[in-house]
Amino acid sequence: MSALLEVQGLRVAYGGINAVKGIDLHVAAGELIALIGANGAGKTSALKAIAGVLAPAAGRIIYGGQDVTRQPSFRLVQQGLALVPEGRGIFPQLTVEENLQMGAYCRPNDASVHSDLEHVYGLFQRLFERRSQKAGTLSGGEQQMLAIGRALMSRPRLLLLDEPSMGLAPMMVQKIFETVVQVARDGVTTLLVEQNALLALQVSQRAYVLEGGVITLQGQASDLLKDSKVRQAYLGE
Ligand code: ATP
Repeated sequence: MSALLEVQGLRVAYGGINAVKGIDLHVAAGELIALIGANGAGKTSALKAIAGVLAPAAGRIIYGGQDVTRQPSFRLVQQGLALVPEGRGIFPQLTVEENLQMGAYCRPNDASVHSDLEHVYGLFQRLFERRSQKAGTLSGGEQQMLAIGRALMSRPRLLLLDEPSMGLAPMMVQKIFETVVQVARDGVTTLLVEQNALLALQVSQRAYVLEGGVITLQGQASDLLKDSKVRQAYLGE
């Protein structure tokens, strides 16, 4: 399998604070890969740099065989690289459907947008039921569905998900993760950032462990689930 995303020596800094200290990772086409780590490990910073939201201090981002380092995020979205940010970033004053339509802003509003809407409503029945409701009135879990749905409206080849389980009730987390797995099975390559290591390792094929801005472990998710260091540090054993 060829790498759809390859990150080489990525560094992210905020002034004097080094958040990501030179990481390498790759995601092959069709994979669902997890990047796990504790609070403040640098997961969000790494994801933002990959998505073109933050300029890296060093390193290269290769996407679809092209060097896209420092390309702005809107260009990357046009090329099929979509980020679902932590905190979701939905437009609270717009309706659910208007938010979803915003995800397809790169394309003319034609039949393909309509069929993508149907697809998202098929994944998240709840969004269909709430399609005319202002997004700001949705529950946290519904807002997370909306954020994922909106990213899917851009027809991504690579989906970057930042902590989709954050702050959600267990039932909602389960629904979100079931859909993430389904979307990945449908062929959308996915890089999932999560603090919930157990869930992330259960759904992903491979994973990277980020600690203090450095990747300290990587491998098959099934092996990491058995790893005593991972179990102690991230699975509460
Ligand atoms: P969390 O799970 O809490 O989101 P994370 O693994 O995603 O954590 P980051 O949010 O990437 O970690 O933060 C990594 C480090 O960079 C932390 O020490 C954080 O305080 C610092 N940091 C993040 N954003 C900024 C910023 N805008 N300015 C200064 N420091 C920042």
